[in-house]
Amino acid sequence: MKTIGLLGGMSWESTVSYYQIINKEVRERLGGLHSAKILLCSVDFQQIEAWQRQGEWEKAGQYCAQQAAMLCKAGADCIVLCTNTMHVIAPIIEAAIDVPFLHIVDSTAAAIKRQGLHKVGFLGTRFSMERPFFKDRLRSQCGVDVLLPNVEDREKVHRIIFDELCCGEILETSKQFFCDVIQKLATQGAEGIILGCTEIPLLIKPEDASVPLFDTAELHAKSACDWALADVA
Ligand code: GLU
Repeated sequence: MKTIGLLGGMSWESTVSYYQIINKEVRERLGGLHSAKILLCSVDFQQIEAWQRQGEWEKAGQYCAQQAAMLCKAGADCIVLCTNTMHVIAPIIEAAIDVPFLHIVDSTAAAIKRQGLHKVGFLGTRFSMERPFFKDRLRSQCGVDVLLPNVEDREKVHRIIFDELCCGEILETSKQFFCDVIQKLATQGAEGIILGCTEIPLLIKPEDASVPLFDTAELHAKSACDWALADVA
């Protein structure tokens, strides 16, 4: 079994999910007392969020690249960046490491491809919804059309992620709001919805939607397991 290097803390609320999903998956696949070999580097999110807000992506990228390199030095066989948004700076991390970087879009694209969907809705931070890094890579891998909520709804989704979900606050009113946005996207033709922020699954579960949900944290974590266990009989 290979050692997975998790670069997390963005926010730690969802890094917990990665840790749980990966360990549960390894136990299910190998049985007994088996658990995953994980190295975790968890950053201070306050600083990362400030860089995001100030548009200092290069600074944030260099910092994350240093942390990833530290994980490699400690023995990580791959790097898993536990956030969609920070994949904006994935190329900076990839340039700084000599082990595979398991990209969050790739596992999402593979799942959408398996279901043969043509149009999906996307929910995430304003950065992930409006910047091209996620949508373009997704389109090039599985050719889907990506629908976004309207500007006002995007602002509210973004605010709920940072002010509530990243702070561990799960509110019924926000859940209802997300359900309404998902329903609007489904009415516009979305055959599935990408939960393109690793905290959204803390609020929205598959039974809350009439269309399939693509939980990027779960898909990413499971891909990491596939990779780590590829050489296990
Ligand atoms: N974890 C979130 C994501 O998946 C948002 C926090 C961040 O800005 O990194 O995009």
